[in-house]
Amino acid sequence: MYAVLAGGVGAARFLRGLAAVAPPEDVVAIVNVGDDLELHGLRICPDLDSITYWLGGVVHPTQQWGRVHERFTVAEELARFGHEPWFTLGDRDLAVHLHRTARLREGVPLSVVTEEISRGFGVEQRLLPATDDPVETRIHTTDGRDLHFQEYWVRERAAPEVAAVRLAGGDDAEPGPWVVEALLDAEAVLVAPSNPVVSIGTILAIPGIAAALRTTAAPVVGISPIIGGTVVRGMAHKLLPAVGAEVSAAGVARHYGPALLDGWVVDERDAAAVPEVEALGIRCVATDTIMDDVEVAASLACTCLELAQECAG
Ligand code: GDP
Ligand code: CA
Repeated sequence: MYAVLAGGVGAARFLRGLAAVAPPEDVVAIVNVGDDLELHGLRICPDLDSITYWLGGVVHPTQQWGRVHERFTVAEELARFGHEPWFTLGDRDLAVHLHRTARLREGVPLSVVTEEISRGFGVEQRLLPATDDPVETRIHTTDGRDLHFQEYWVRERAAPEVAAVRLAGGDDAEPGPWVVEALLDAEAVLVAPSNPVVSIGTILAIPGIAAALRTTAAPVVGISPIIGGTVVRGMAHKLLPAVGAEVSAAGVARHYGPALLDGWVVDERDAAAVPEVEALGIRCVATDTIMDDVEVAASLACTCLELAQECAG
């Protein structure tokens, strides 16, 4: 079984490739929930939903998140009452949030509801929320504000300068059911090319998860989300400096460090970074990592599994 630490779209693109080379029962994704928010009384889990829509084959193909053939009737009607539509909620998407919120109100844990939702989309891979406990990524800006991650990211488009990032509730949160077991039992642990600070960092901030990664016998192999000194999409380059990391393929490897990573896959455009990463004591290979086609994603997944085998051997 392969355990994959996952954020949203970058992780979903990788998981689609892994799905092409590994049977679904062998794939467990441990997914960030720091981005979750409540809107109109509904619990929204953007990273879990992005992965579900990708693996379920219903993602919007150019936007890369949300649903294909989406409509926005409810959002348009809400505008009558002066609701500022800064966070997109499509009609189809809303059905997921309605089901999730109703089940959570009944006292059902998020991990169980997540299984119900992924099954509803025919997803056979296991998606595990990093925790069932309430956590929230908070962004402290240099102008003295404390913003919810989505207020910073979506509403303010990552414009404010960031002083610090914190997972509120993280200290008291426990890893979700099967998360630690998956990390300890895995044949390989893969770190998806997700935002190192607000996707992977917020998973590692939950006590017990980083420790399980350091103690697991499984090789841990990651993929760089930074290519040629910038992101493929998103704004990860704005958050790395806030945690003291350099915005480069080698910089992210150094940020995770050799205690966590055994192997690191960089893009072929960053082949020059390989010796720098190996000097850290992390095995490194360069290949095509821009997963616009499923073939590239599948080949990248194979490269990761081969590197994991080398690290284990
Ligand atoms: P979000 O939660 O939707 O923002 O998604 P993630 O945290 O999973 O991913 C954002 C990161 O994924 C960004 O740093 C992107 O550069 C990276 N990313 C997205 N697609 C790809 C890809 O095809 N290849 C690589 N190497 N990185 C990618
Ligand atoms: Ca996210």
